[in-house]
Amino acid sequence: MPETIAQMEPTQTSKTASFFASLLFVFARRFIAGQTLYEAITVLRRLKSRGFLTTIDHLGENVTNEEEAVRAADEYIEIVRALKKNHLDVNISVKLTQIGLDISTALCSRNLKRIAEAAKEAGGFIRVDIEGSKYTSKTFDVVKEIKAMGLPVGAAVQTMLRRTPSDVVALLEGGTTMRLCKGAYKEPIDIAFAKKEEVDRQYVALMKRLLTSGLYHAIATHDEKIIAETKSFAKERGIKRDQFEFQMLFGIRPSLQERMIANGWRLRVYVPFGKAWLPYVIRRLREKKENFWFVMKNLFRK
Ligand SMILES: Cc1cc2nc3c(=O)[nH]c(=O)nc-3n(C[C@H](O)[C@H](O)[C@H](O)COP(=O)(O)OP(=O)(O)OC[C@H]3O[C@@H](n4cnc5c(N)ncnc54)[C@H](O)[C@@H]3O)c2cc1C
Repeated sequence: MPETIAQMEPTQTSKTASFFASLLFVFARRFIAGQTLYEAITVLRRLKSRGFLTTIDHLGENVTNEEEAVRAADEYIEIVRALKKNHLDVNISVKLTQIGLDISTALCSRNLKRIAEAAKEAGGFIRVDIEGSKYTSKTFDVVKEIKAMGLPVGAAVQTMLRRTPSDVVALLEGGTTMRLCKGAYKEPIDIAFAKKEEVDRQYVALMKRLLTSGLYHAIATHDEKIIAETKSFAKERGIKRDQFEFQMLFGIRPSLQERMIANGWRLRVYVPFGKAWLPYVIRRLREKKENFWFVMKNLFRK
């Protein structure tokens, strides 16, 4: 019996690779609603019936072909219409590299504008996800441009980046609402905090800045300590529960999510679906080492 993958015959290696891919998909199913819009709508309906707000993400990123970027925007417009037709939250989360940011900012802006116009017509909202730091400035430029047209679009910001306090100030000046998150991308130390304590400290400071801004923002985290600090800060400042919302990812800390709803907090669940699930799932794997060990343990289990 070969001891390692390197010692295996090629056919054994490809069998192992396909076994690994199917195992990864079993793991992925915890975090995605399925591969089709139909499956996603079923999940959104279930969440809505239990009192959750939702946002939907059609998985995909780093598109390098113009036709594909235009098609991704068209698909988002279809999703907006399907949500409206099914009486679901018309709230979608979009990555700009899925709709052409790697090709040209102008193409990406045109695509986002089309989606935002459809969302406006449907009484909905578009949250632009924030990706790796290479895209940060370009992403905010596009968001600001579309927001200035009076279209319903908001940004997301990452507290791991050192630059974020000044981005928050600039976005607030334009009246842009934000989703505050820690950040899921690996970044160099000169531009990002490496230690959890530093990321968390900046999170709490920016949470306070957002909650006192008079705009409706989203506090996106599963960190119970930060959630508790947010609740007590809101209480202390007389900020009402309908003046902001919490957000969490589908499949992460489901019992905490249920508890938040039972206790009357506004909580929006981010529901990804689609075939291009791998990069998203790898980010979820990297965030928690138990996830990685779950996959490895099952890979080598006889
Ligand atoms: C609604 C929403 C939208 C997001 N959008 C973006 C975005 O646009 N751009 C971006 O860079 N990042 C985004 N993120 C991801 C975010 O930046 C973090 O990477 C992720 O939320 C983990 O950080 P945390 O705040 O939960 O805190 P952590 O300190 O990382 O985690 C707190 C606790 O949550 C649980 N937990 C966290 N992650 C996992 C996991 N993968 N598996 C199992 N349990 C876990 C654990 O119990 C952990 O102890 C988003 C997160 C949310 C909730």
